[in-house]
Amino acid sequence: MEIHGALVASPGMGHAVPILELGKHLLNHHGFDRVTVFLVTDDVPRSKSLIGKTLTEEEDPKFVIRFIQLDVSGQDLTGSLLTKLAEMMRKAIPQIKSVVMELEPKPSVFVVDLLGTEALIVAKELEIMKKHVLVTTSAWFLALTVYMASLDEGTLFKHLSSNGALLIPGCTPVKFDRVQDPSGYVRELAESQRIGLEVVTADGVFVNTCHSLEPVTIRSFLDHKNLGLVMKGVPVYPVGPLVRPAEPDLKHEVLDWLDLQAKESVVYVSFGSGGSLTAEQTMELAYGLELSGFRFVWVVRPPAEDDPSASMFDKATNQTEPLDFLPEGFLDRTKDVGLVVKTWAPQEEILAHEATGGFVSHCGWNSVLESIVNGVPMIAWPLYSEQKMNAWLVSEELKIAARVDVGNGIVKKEEIVEVVKRVMDEEEGKEMRENVMELKKKTAEEAVKNLSTPQAAYFTQN
Ligand code: UDP
Repeated sequence: MEIHGALVASPGMGHAVPILELGKHLLNHHGFDRVTVFLVTDDVPRSKSLIGKTLTEEEDPKFVIRFIQLDVSGQDLTGSLLTKLAEMMRKAIPQIKSVVMELEPKPSVFVVDLLGTEALIVAKELEIMKKHVLVTTSAWFLALTVYMASLDEGTLFKHLSSNGALLIPGCTPVKFDRVQDPSGYVRELAESQRIGLEVVTADGVFVNTCHSLEPVTIRSFLDHKNLGLVMKGVPVYPVGPLVRPAEPDLKHEVLDWLDLQAKESVVYVSFGSGGSLTAEQTMELAYGLELSGFRFVWVVRPPAEDDPSASMFDKATNQTEPLDFLPEGFLDRTKDVGLVVKTWAPQEEILAHEATGGFVSHCGWNSVLESIVNGVPMIAWPLYSEQKMNAWLVSEELKIAARVDVGNGIVKKEEIVEVVKRVMDEEEGKEMRENVMELKKKTAEEAVKNLSTPQAAYFTQN
């Protein structure tokens, strides 16, 4: 029988990139005969152009990418990112069902990312043999989601209102408010709990992580007395790192500029596909970079005052000129040491370039993985969603990042200078670089092992 996989990604490049990588792996290494990837989006031209920049292969009849255009005109998009995305995916279900139903041959495997678990119903209704979830973030976030969903309301609220440590079975205890914004988490609780309950209706859960990044949490999922129990026997497989490889021949002005810089001398600054700073914070970051004296590449976005994930959907923000918000004379003063790129840059290729020595990142999980596989230490500057957890992991556990204190409003230029120096200049930075190089080696070994494991078996059998 021909194995055809139907893969669905919820809106945002952070979901599209790993779903596309998984699709390529299934086709090229794990015996799938055909893969169709559906990318749900409110803006097909924009998504197409971003994907085009990351996926330049010729159209392959065995690997087909389709966009599902959503009309969000009547939708309230003022909530948190999780609420927005979950609502968009809910609206997309009839469209997902109709496009999957038309596929020839009928898919035997359906995969959706964590924010689209409601669409697992499509696989059930169409009687697709296997339905799976791909977690495009850490195993730790999956642990939090399923564990919180397993608690009764009283215990849950006691947990959330206490200042005690968060005790997820088999995971390292950690103070909840260090890794989540508790009030934001309460606002998202209903969606998050629904997702936690739906995950355990899948036949398998695949996580874009690996043992060298999260040994304790992964072990807990494999232990039927710990998180294995919470998963109700649904197997969890670490399949990462799924990272788009850098294109060696890509032409881009940033890469030309990097070619002229010394090894590990440049700080790359980017807040993912949706991250936005306020106007005041944009100014402060500019002054901080200038004052630090380090060379930099900065992907600048137009500011947003109330929503740190604004540029993901907000068309008005996306059409504003970002350079208008920089301090007067900044571009002129820094023209010999820095390069400012508007809105989007070839991140994988920048991180793979030997001139890049540090990464100021919002700690989206893909950015974390891309930094690790390229051996670049980070300056962790989390903005929203589970990014605080990722920032904790890279700074406190893996010790490959210095963390910016985002708790007190604006991060001042002096602090930016200090934290950049810690990574680029000081003994501590050298240790972080050694640690990340070691992780680069280990994750590369695990990725190769993952390629040679017949994972199709995970996907197609029990
Ligand atoms: N990305 C990129 N260029 C940019 C910004 C982002 O190529 O200017 C890519 C980045 O390499 C990563 C993805 O978009 O693969 C963003 O995913 P991540 O999980 O880091 O953050 P999110 O955008 O989901 O917050």
